[in-house]
Amino acid sequence: MQPPERIDNNVAQGRLRLHWADAVVALDHAALRKACRCAECQFKRHHGTPIHVPAAVRVTTIAPVGYGVQLVFSDGHARGIYPWAYLAELAAIATG
Ligand SMILES: [Zn+2]
Repeated sequence: MQPPERIDNNVAQGRLRLHWADAVVALDHAALRKACRCAECQFKRHHGTPIHVPAAVRVTTIAPVGYGVQLVFSDGHARGIYPWAYLAELAAIATG
């Protein structure tokens, strides 16, 4: 999957907006944090351990990793890698 042409991070609104050539999608920061697929979060999910996400959590840093981005959150969580395809998938779920 191609990377988006542009990524806007609106910290005030808690929204990440991805601009692809054929689609623009917005993702909620808290929803992204809940959807984290790092080893720690996968482990918790697998064992049914709740992942506590403050509603006011924000994406503070977006680090490109080639096939996607690494997102750093204001609660200190920084291990999540979000491939482009996964972000598109999350956006599709969010918009129904
Ligand atoms: Zn995680």
